[in-house]
Amino acid sequence: MIREGRITILGAGLTGALLAVLLARRGIEVTVLERQTDPRRGTVTAGRSINLAMAARGMRGLKRAGLEHAIDDLLCPMPGRMLHPIAGDLEFQRYSGNEDDINYSVSRAGLNNRLIDAAERAGATIHFGARCERFDPATGTLHLVNPDGGEATYQAERLIAADGAGSPTRRALAKQPGFETSEQLLGHRYQEIDIPAAANGGYAMAAEALHIWPRGGYMLIALPNPGGDFTATLFMAEDEAAGTPSFSAWRTPGAAAAFVAEQFPDVPPLVPDLADQLDAHPLGILGNVRCEPWHIEDRVLLIGDAAHAIVPFHGQGMNAAFEDCVVLDSLLDAHDDWGSVFREFSAVRLADADAIATMAMENYVEMRDTVRDPRFQLKKALAFALEQRAPEHFIPRYSMVMFHADIGYATALERGRVQAALLERWTETADSLDEIDLDHCLAELGEALAPIPRASV
Ligand SMILES: Cc1cc2nc3c(=O)[nH]c(=O)nc-3n(C[C@H](O)[C@H](O)[C@H](O)COP(=O)(O)OP(=O)(O)OC[C@H]3O[C@@H](n4cnc5c(N)ncnc54)[C@H](O)[C@@H]3O)c2cc1C
Repeated sequence: MIREGRITILGAGLTGALLAVLLARRGIEVTVLERQTDPRRGTVTAGRSINLAMAARGMRGLKRAGLEHAIDDLLCPMPGRMLHPIAGDLEFQRYSGNEDDINYSVSRAGLNNRLIDAAERAGATIHFGARCERFDPATGTLHLVNPDGGEATYQAERLIAADGAGSPTRRALAKQPGFETSEQLLGHRYQEIDIPAAANGGYAMAAEALHIWPRGGYMLIALPNPGGDFTATLFMAEDEAAGTPSFSAWRTPGAAAAFVAEQFPDVPPLVPDLADQLDAHPLGILGNVRCEPWHIEDRVLLIGDAAHAIVPFHGQGMNAAFEDCVVLDSLLDAHDDWGSVFREFSAVRLADADAIATMAMENYVEMRDTVRDPRFQLKKALAFALEQRAPEHFIPRYSMVMFHADIGYATALERGRVQAALLERWTETADSLDEIDLDHCLAELGEALAPIPRASV
């Protein structure tokens, strides 16, 4: 068990701040270097998404740090998705057959600030305005630049890099022999739109849902915020080479607002300054980062997005990163030396990180397209029914990922493939659940799949 020593964490984002709490609580001397100025002073520069879906793995990370109730007031429950067709009625689809299975929308900035507070309370020292310009893996030296351009060098005896998808640490490690890394852009980008609270201060759409406007090759989604507003995000091809329609078609004045009015007709009445927002809000990039290994000896470790950034379509990037923190913390209980901790962490997390990257890409197609298919609904109803009858054998893949932190991502991917093939066959000739013989399905299931393995951490 490791309960002492010194660690430098690069990045006080969601991962770095949670990790700082966990390590400092163990008695480790934690120094965090963060390029931004202190976000609690309101000087944060525009980040990525304004809010995030928090699910079981994220909650488990908070619980491990004793913070399970620290963000109660920031959470907006989202028990299901509300589908908005171009014409016709809205349709609410629950995420799970179990009432307790709920995703939450949470403010990124609010969560980050609470974690930073908790890290300081736990004893971590955080230096804001310390941008790492260059990292030398051979010596552990970081070249830092402050907001005024002042430079300094910093010697890290042991560095955990939580410096995000564009991690300068990972890019420095990429030049080392035996280190493989890839950064793949999706070709689709995103733009956020604020949907304000209604005139009476309440929500202008159903509050307890993740709203989706699925349109085949692209989609708009919206997550609620505690103040009655929603943050909507349009995901679409960047240019015609990546698909149509695309953001690049919005060349003429008014084209963007006209597109939104035509494809998402219930949105413009809710957003008086829609055209201005579409003009002003930047397009974000989407992509996947993969690297292997995630460490150098007992000196450097990558964690969170720095090691495995993924596209956001399963709402799992931060959740996976918090799971990283839980696993790392538990390895500090299991080992007495950092080399073993880093080696095992890198080995055990890679398969799970690869699995959630695959599932996140697949979920883009499900969210923007498959959810509209009546057959998808029948498969979902059957999956819920099977889960009710035999939860140790069958849990829908979405639920394994979002609501079961004790089922690894790789297990969810593997079992999900078998389950998908079975659901496909069982619903082939049926139009409704009544036409399906559940006992027969359960018998086949028992032959195809062993009971679900649960992780102890
Ligand atoms: C549009 C979008 C929607 C998303 N939605 C969800 C969701 O619903 N649910 C979910 O779980 N995940 C979601 N994610 C993913 C989530 O945002 C990331 O997985 C999460 O932010 C990773 O946290 P991190 O701390 O590892 O990296 P980051 O959040 O990127 O933090 C990195 C930190 O390091 C600092 N830093 C970077 N470079 C340096 C440097 N050179 N020197 C010093 N400091 C540095 C940064 O300032 C930052 O504070 C979404 C992502 C996007 C883009």
